[in-house]
Amino acid sequence: MKGKVALVTGSTSGIGLGLARALAREGAHVMLHGLGPAAEIEQLRATLAGETGVQVHAHDADLGGVGEAARLVADTERIFGRLDILVNNAGIQFVSPVEDFPPEHWARIQEIILGSSFHAIRAVVPGMRRRGWGRIINLASVHGLVASPFKSAYVAAKHGQIGLTKTVALELAETAITCNAICPGYVRTPLVEGQIERQAQLHRLPREQVIRDVILAAQPSRRFVEVEEVAALAVFLCGEPARSITGAAIAIDGGWSAR
Ligand code: NAD
Repeated sequence: MKGKVALVTGSTSGIGLGLARALAREGAHVMLHGLGPAAEIEQLRATLAGETGVQVHAHDADLGGVGEAARLVADTERIFGRLDILVNNAGIQFVSPVEDFPPEHWARIQEIILGSSFHAIRAVVPGMRRRGWGRIINLASVHGLVASPFKSAYVAAKHGQIGLTKTVALELAETAITCNAICPGYVRTPLVEGQIERQAQLHRLPREQVIRDVILAAQPSRRFVEVEEVAALAVFLCGEPARSITGAAIAIDGGWSAR
């Protein structure tokens, strides 16, 4: 992957940061992206560049805003001169019964997860076609394959990301550009820590009991998927041995979707 350029959206935290680290260790230059305090992001950027020796820049486009995903792609191409690997990973969660689900949260989840994936892909494909190579990975979820109650916006957006993945893969099938979705079960990141905290407060349960009886109840392995496991799958999809894998939605979920 030496000399390639990767953009991982939502890579200031959690799975995205793990993916960015793994791609940088393989020799790819990286555009870190996400929200957060500027000093902390600069620290992440400098540490990753120092550890790996690749070029690392950072961008803070808010993907809830119209045109921001396309601007992020254009800025990455301008700064690095190319963009070979796009990982649409940024995401948020909101949990509520459908009849109480605030429409503004619905709209923001659709835009950040599904809308930004479409806009980033739309912006990145012309350059990948010109250069004759590319890898697009949509970091979907097991919730792109199966549903859970109270997550209507998230489940709809994640199913949509898988539909987008298949369509783009078909359009690019005769090129050397692949498009796949990775579908993790629960990975212990700040996004999931927030859900554990809310469930603990709601049910007045200790956090460890929420993890065992609520969160991991759906995951047959009864353990969290590790960020490094997801990152290793993404690195494999970026390599040449994966060139015939396209349009796939690959579960990495401890057996969740096998039920
Ligand atoms: P996280 O909360 O640790 O990280 C989310 C990232 O997205 C952060 O970098 C954040 O800054 C960025 N982000 C959020 N809103 C943004 C916005 N409006 N504009 C730009 N960036 C924004 O979450 P995570 O658990 O690492 O999740 C990453 C992806 O993996 C998400 O798409 C999530 O749905 C998916 N996923 C997570 C799990 C899990 O169990 N953690 C399981 C399956 C899928």
